[in-house]
Amino acid sequence: MANGRIHIRLDSCSVVGCAYHGTRLDRHLDIDHTELSQQEADFLLQEVKRKVGLKMLRELREIDPPSTHDNDT
Ligand SMILES: [Zn+2]
Repeated sequence: MANGRIHIRLDSCSVVGCAYHGTRLDRHLDIDHTELSQQEADFLLQEVKRKVGLKMLRELREIDPPSTHDNDT
């Protein structure tokens, strides 16, 4: 998988009532949620990627708070 897409490490499926939790959410959506249209599956995947991205940003901020650079002018 070297096509430049964000790698989802471990996240849960956001489909209501689905308990899937794993590393291949894109595949899971494809195989296990055939009731979803390509568009819907894509949307769900984008949502999860967004959430993962936000979580990563939050964790980064906790490690390195952004407030230090404009305090000592
Ligand atoms: Zn699912």
